[in-house]
Amino acid sequence: MTFPRIKNWGRRAAEASGVIRALQTIGRGGDNPLYVLVYHRVDDPNRKPPVGMNLVSATPAQFEAQMRLIARHYHPVTAEDVVNAIARPAPLPADAVLVTVDDGYRDFKDTIFPIAQRHGIRPVLFVPTAFVGEGRFWWDRLFLALEATAAPETESPVGRLPLHAPAERAAAFNVLADYVRRHPSFEQGRAEVEALCEDLAPGSGSGERATLDWDELRALARQGATIAAHSHTHPILAHIPLEQARREIRQSQSLIEREIGSALPILAYPDGRPNALNAELPLLLREEGFVAAFTMTNRCAYLKRDLSLQLPRVLVSRRYTLEQFHLFLTPIHQKWTQLKQ
Ligand SMILES: [Zn+2]
Repeated sequence: MTFPRIKNWGRRAAEASGVIRALQTIGRGGDNPLYVLVYHRVDDPNRKPPVGMNLVSATPAQFEAQMRLIARHYHPVTAEDVVNAIARPAPLPADAVLVTVDDGYRDFKDTIFPIAQRHGIRPVLFVPTAFVGEGRFWWDRLFLALEATAAPETESPVGRLPLHAPAERAAAFNVLADYVRRHPSFEQGRAEVEALCEDLAPGSGSGERATLDWDELRALARQGATIAAHSHTHPILAHIPLEQARREIRQSQSLIEREIGSALPILAYPDGRPNALNAELPLLLREEGFVAAFTMTNRCAYLKRDLSLQLPRVLVSRRYTLEQFHLFLTPIHQKWTQLKQ
C-alpha cells in the first residue's frame, strides 16, 4: 500500500507547487518585490564538530533544491543589477532574487558557490574582513569551548554561569555572546571571552579552519561571486561610537578593494536586526558612498519604497520545506507577513 500513498503525496506536492507558482504573480502590482535571500551556512547538521548550528540555514540538499527552484521560476539577479537598479534608477525583472550569504565560512567555497554557479546564480558573500584567513570567528570559538569544557561552572565577566546541562551551556553562550556584542570596547570584550575560552577548554580554538582566506576569496570573485563588506570585526554598529563605526566600514571596504581589486558600494549590517541599527548609520553609509545596505528584517524589498540603505532580506531556515520556501517568495505571503509585523 506504500505506492499509492507516495503517488498521492507526489501529486499533492505537484499541485501545491503549481498553486504557489500561480501565487507568484498575484499582487505584484507595479511595485515588484525583490527577494534578497540571506544564508549563513549550508552544511550537514550531523557534521562534527558541531559549530553553532543555529547558523546553518540549509543542508546542501535543501540549498540545491532551492537554487534549482530559483533558476526555474524566478529571475536571479546580481549585486551589480541591484546597485544599477537603485542608482539609475531602472526596474529589476519581475520575481527578482538576489542570493546573499553572510560571514565567509568555508562552506561558501565548498558547497554554496558551486551549487549556485551550477544554476547560473551569482551570490554575494558579505565578509567581516578581520576574520579572513583567521581560522575561526569568535562566536564559534566560544561555542566550541563551551561544548568541550568539563567545568561544571565558570566565573565569567558577567558573573557565575552554570555549565552542567546542555541548556545551561546554551544559555551561557547567549549571555557571553551578547556581552561581546554590547561591550563598549568590542576588542576588549572579545579578549575577555577569548581568555575565558582558553581557561575553559585550552586549545579548543585550534583545528580545522572555518573561515576563507584572501586567496580563496580572490578565486571566488574571479569565478563570479561578489565579495562585499560586512564591517571589519563584526560589532553591532549601533552599539559603538559613530566614528568607530565609520572606521569599521571604511576598513572593511578598503581591504576588499585592495585584496579583490574592486568593491561594490554595498554592505550587510553585522547582526542586522532592528536594534543593531540606528538613524545615523544609513546617513554615515551615504556619506561613505554606499548605495545599498542590507538588514536582517525578514521580508522582501521594494526598491521604490524601501530605503536603499536599510533593505530587508528574506531569512532562510533549514526548518522550511521547499513548498514553504517557495510560498515565502510570493507577494501575497509577503504582504500577509508585513501585516503581522
Ligand atoms: Zn554576520
